[in-house]
Amino acid sequence: MNITVGIDIGGTFIKGALLDPKGRILSKDEFPTGSKRTPKDVIKRTTEAVSLLLQKSTIAKKNVLGVGIGCPGQISSQKGIVYNSPNMKNWENVPLQSEISKALSLPVEIFNDANAAAWGEFWLGSGKNASTFILCTLGTGIGGGIIIDKKLYLGPDECAGELGHITVVNNGPKCGCGNHGCIETIASASSIVKRAEKKIRRGARTTLTKEYEKNSLTAKSIYIAAKNGDAFSKELLNDTGKYLGIAAAGIINTLNPDIIAYGGGLSKAGKFLFSSLKEEAKRRSIKIAFKRVKIIKASLGNDAGFIGAAGLMLEKRKK
Ligand SMILES: [Zn+2]
Repeated sequence: MNITVGIDIGGTFIKGALLDPKGRILSKDEFPTGSKRTPKDVIKRTTEAVSLLLQKSTIAKKNVLGVGIGCPGQISSQKGIVYNSPNMKNWENVPLQSEISKALSLPVEIFNDANAAAWGEFWLGSGKNASTFILCTLGTGIGGGIIIDKKLYLGPDECAGELGHITVVNNGPKCGCGNHGCIETIASASSIVKRAEKKIRRGARTTLTKEYEKNSLTAKSIYIAAKNGDAFSKELLNDTGKYLGIAAAGIINTLNPDIIAYGGGLSKAGKFLFSSLKEEAKRRSIKIAFKRVKIIKASLGNDAGFIGAAGLMLEKRKK
């Protein structure tokens, strides 16, 4: 009885894996989240995902310690409730933990997906040797997780780690959270695309124009263009890095972390993003704190979420 199931509920896929106590992946798979995305449908699909993972393996249910689930949105791990989830439909105060636990007859713990990914990276990835570790995920939105002295920091309302909503521009673009000028409105994949498209409409010269006229751009096409020497794309990523650096300096000066790791698709942009990020962070950080911090790319990719969810479940069981 020492196998854990890790699940990462995303807008497109429910990713899952069976893990041994050291976090080694015994098997993994992904299942479509479906277009309904209502609480009832997602609960059903998540339950099926766990059952299918077990069916395809030789592991009996009696050997499963429990299921750790990472889910997007505002979550109370303690209460087992999803207060709301922006990319899902009609998610309000959903008792996700008890519903799935009942359906599977297994212990279940739920966590915010970015917190789970942060724990995954801290446990087995880019933050392995750190004591104070920050993960910042650069995806459609920007998420984060904070580990202080080897413990996940949630805050009294379990809403700590919302790194995407650090303000970097006074009166900047309106953010989904209601604020203006959050780093998410500048540096998330969708925001970068929006900024690029606006500039192209205003006549900026770039190799992306053709693609923009054919269909809409993606963050990936922007960093590929940068790699191929497109000055416009290079400048756009360089600028994005600067704003990320402003946010990073705030984190560095507040928490004195060992490592800040960046995950998500955009972290693949490499030096086009990271050199200005580091430069800006250095310029704005307390010297001794900047000397310590390593600013790196996260290493577990899409596996971080389910590995971390399983790991956090194990941590909870220890108590
Ligand atoms: Zn915001």
